[in-house]
Amino acid sequence: MSVVIPESIRERREQVRAFMEQHVYPNESRLLAEDETADALIAELQAKAKEAGLWAPHLPPEAGGSGGGFIEYAYVNEEIGRSAVAQLVFGCQAPDAGNAEILHLYGTPEQKERFLRPLVAGETRSFFGMTEPEVAGSDPTLLRGRAERHGDEWVINAHKWFSSGADGAGFGIVMVVTDPDAEPHRRASMIIVPTDAPGYELVRRIPVMGHTGRGWGTHCETRFTNVRVPVENTLGEPGDGFRIAQKRLGPGRIHHVMRWLGQMQRAFELMCSYALEREAFGSTLAEKQTVQNWIAESAAEIQACRLMTLQAAHRLDEGDEARVEISLVKFYAARVLGEVIDRAIQVHGGLGLTDDTPLALMWRMARGGRVYDGADEVHKMVVARRILRSFEDGGVWRFT
Ligand SMILES: Cc1cc2nc3c(=O)[nH]c(=O)nc-3n(C[C@H](O)[C@H](O)[C@H](O)COP(=O)(O)OP(=O)(O)OC[C@H]3O[C@@H](n4cnc5c(N)ncnc54)[C@H](O)[C@@H]3O)c2cc1C
Repeated sequence: MSVVIPESIRERREQVRAFMEQHVYPNESRLLAEDETADALIAELQAKAKEAGLWAPHLPPEAGGSGGGFIEYAYVNEEIGRSAVAQLVFGCQAPDAGNAEILHLYGTPEQKERFLRPLVAGETRSFFGMTEPEVAGSDPTLLRGRAERHGDEWVINAHKWFSSGADGAGFGIVMVVTDPDAEPHRRASMIIVPTDAPGYELVRRIPVMGHTGRGWGTHCETRFTNVRVPVENTLGEPGDGFRIAQKRLGPGRIHHVMRWLGQMQRAFELMCSYALEREAFGSTLAEKQTVQNWIAESAAEIQACRLMTLQAAHRLDEGDEARVEISLVKFYAARVLGEVIDRAIQVHGGLGLTDDTPLALMWRMARGGRVYDGADEVHKMVVARRILRSFEDGGVWRFT
């Protein structure tokens, strides 16, 4: 893996950076408004991103995107991630990005035409319904939601929560048990459920850390009561749920981390700038050793996260699942993200807690990163088990 950024990627990153400076940062507070005033502006900027050839950078051109692989996306998404709302402007927001990827990989031609095409075009949004309130989301073999086959239809009964973005979504990809007698990892399937299907209910937008949000920014409780969808709405084959979830969650996790790199760097920059201008006890904050320690530690940790992300991206581009690399950077970067933002807030004093800087929102959003797409402890378990297995077999763990 080269640590030198290729020229073509550098140019693409410059384009995205210029777009962010021209269109996103100056409009950020309006774009983040939790009412309908944001909608027209988001649509306007989405059209500009399409015109600029920057739309859907996570997907290859044959799936309707403008992307050129994981390494390129790492550099591009690091820029997009600097603003919490920019992923929506560029059409690469979670959970739509992951849903588009699995529809592209596993969808039938009919599913691609009906669900993938409008999703990638930004004409509709989607949600991903795996987690259930009654059982540990960390262990999806415990899922209770069921789909029973009746002739040519699935009849779905399930209760989900944290169905992010379900408010206003056109469809959901829902993971439910279709064969309770199969071995645990063959029990579940992914089924596409249009939100106008009778029996589907958005129970509530769950308040999360004091915010309920709207539309894309929501985390919803959803219920499926005798929802009937054709068997053709199965993604992949019945029983493929875990396989597809893995395919979705691996790249999805690294996409989150790429955005976090942008958040970390923005917080870092705010911390450094403010430390240089604020004075207390006869010198600027930048001259206090505690603050210097925070700056140096943050710089080292951010760069470590960047290099770990690039390595995982490189493995993914080579066709590897990169499970260890992704888990490593997922839990490590989630912690660094929280700590860097926390230090930046501390340097800002009371100002850091207000909404006059982006830090408070960044901090609130960062906390979820240690839970969603696999809690820290689960990723550590995955990493440790894999490493230990290589020792059990009489070998050693080689860092590559
Ligand atoms: C902001 C946000 C957005 C989300 N979006 C979605 C979405 O769009 N779709 C969706 O389906 N889900 C979504 N989720 C749900 C998320 O994936 C789950 O919260 C996560 O998988 C953990 O499951 P759980 O909440 O049931 O916690 P549990 O599985 O009950 O775990 C609770 C805690 O137990 C500990 N733990 C678990 N296993 C181990 C272990 N092996 N060793 C040590 N400790 C352990 C961890 O500390 C963990 O935090 C979202 C969550 C958040 C916070």
